[in-house]
Amino acid sequence: MEGREPSTRPSRTTPASPRVTPALVKRPRFQTLARFWEGQDVLARWTDGLLYLGIIKKVDSAQETCLVRFEDNSQFSVLWKDIFPPAVPGKEQLCCVCNSQACTPDNKLVHCGKCKHAYHQECHVPSVPCDTDSSGSSWMCRQCVFAVATKRGGALKKGPFARSMLQMKLSLPYQLKSLEWDPLHLTNKQQCYCYCGGPGEWNMKMLQCCRCLQWFHEACTQCLSKPLLYGDRFYVFECSVCTRGPENAWRLPLGWVDVSHLVLYHLSICCKKKYFDFEREILSFVNENWESLLLGELTDTPRTDRYSHLLHALTAEKDRFISGKEIKKKKCLFGLQSRVPPPAPQTTLTELRLQEADVRGSTPCVREDGGPEKPPTQNKDTKHREADAEGAAEAAESSYPGCGAEPI
Ligand SMILES: [Zn+2]
Ligand SMILES: [Zn+2]
Ligand SMILES: [Zn+2]
Ligand SMILES: [Zn+2]
Repeated sequence: MEGREPSTRPSRTTPASPRVTPALVKRPRFQTLARFWEGQDVLARWTDGLLYLGIIKKVDSAQETCLVRFEDNSQFSVLWKDIFPPAVPGKEQLCCVCNSQACTPDNKLVHCGKCKHAYHQECHVPSVPCDTDSSGSSWMCRQCVFAVATKRGGALKKGPFARSMLQMKLSLPYQLKSLEWDPLHLTNKQQCYCYCGGPGEWNMKMLQCCRCLQWFHEACTQCLSKPLLYGDRFYVFECSVCTRGPENAWRLPLGWVDVSHLVLYHLSICCKKKYFDFEREILSFVNENWESLLLGELTDTPRTDRYSHLLHALTAEKDRFISGKEIKKKKCLFGLQSRVPPPAPQTTLTELRLQEADVRGSTPCVREDGGPEKPPTQNKDTKHREADAEGAAEAAESSYPGCGAEPI
């Protein structure tokens, strides 16, 4: 079937999929039994936002899920909303969203040049412009644009697919307001996140928009200069729906305790263990990835000084870190007291904008709390704002060296 070259899918466990509200997502809704069947080759969206090839082993109509076996032989239950079958020969004249072929002059059927599915202009999100060639040779549907443009480390930033993706990202294929969130706004019952509407885990390389509060996959964003670490919340991010254009992302300043916490959390997810050797694993990871960590004011710290700063942070913050000494192991080992990401910094977008204005010196800086003006905590190097997706740097590298394994 048509689709992206699937990346090797990480082997990992996933929570059982809860029931999704069927009417929530505007997506292809064939009669189910006609749409999914055992033995069918499909693309399925994973929690990293990427699509992977799989084969349906079982259809569960009550739960609205399918058991899918992926290329690495792992099997997971996947919600219908995240499964994309190929077009069925002979059914290409039916709109894959409303299952009808009735057309009006303003709402014709257009065919995707890649997957061959048909869509009414108004059934696709966003609606397809009138001047689109209805034979479909040049038009590509939302699913196919995302299949081509999403990448680990960040989506394509240049070229026609990047431009098409940005257009698609201006609207969501679901109702944001109808999602039911936990009290901390980290997970929703519908397992519906990002521009892609796919499943996700907030601490697994996702960014939260500071305006709409939705979470977005690293793979679907086009604004990152470096790949994310697991649990990295040291960004202020605005999504394309909220900006009505390219995304914005600002790197927030990190202290040594934050760096230690973030690196230990990242390593603990990658390597599936709790304790790490200070010099051989923690310090060497920090040194190997020094530029990618985007540490702002800490960036100039000479290699020789990083040792003492990190070691001090790890030994001083006893409520966050535990040393091997405390559990009768080697004292050069360190782990997290509890495996949670570093707490989210409290910097708001308003503060950032004020700091920016302050740096430029062109706008008076008035703090909301009326307190004394703080010197800007960011310099040019720590701010990674992308004004134009087209003019962006090369795609961010997709992984961090030195952490050995794929995520669990
Ligand atoms: Zn996504
Ligand atoms: Zn339709
Ligand atoms: Zn398509
Ligand atoms: Zn937003």
